[in-house]
Amino acid sequence: MSNRYFEQRDVRRDGLRSACAAMEDALAHIPEPAFGEASPANDLRARWAELLVLIAMEPARLLRACPVCKQAGMLEATRCMNCWTKLAVGTASDVLPA
Ligand SMILES: [Zn+2]
Repeated sequence: MSNRYFEQRDVRRDGLRSACAAMEDALAHIPEPAFGEASPANDLRARWAELLVLIAMEPARLLRACPVCKQAGMLEATRCMNCWTKLAVGTASDVLPA
């Protein structure tokens, strides 16, 4: 119940999500400047916000197993990309655990 294509893509995306979460955590621990005080930290927060827009991080892809060959594929797929079985509409109960 796996698919090399999705595994490789998710490893990279998971790494990026983890790095972004670590950056958000680090930024959250930088003390806020006094009101009206110039702060390099605020500049960093603004640049980070701009970068997040450019990255356009999407949520983790929902996967399900093909009922015939058991290969993982996208939840919204209408046909298995491994065995070409036509698939019914996926539901929340079909989602594979992350
Ligand atoms: Zn299949």
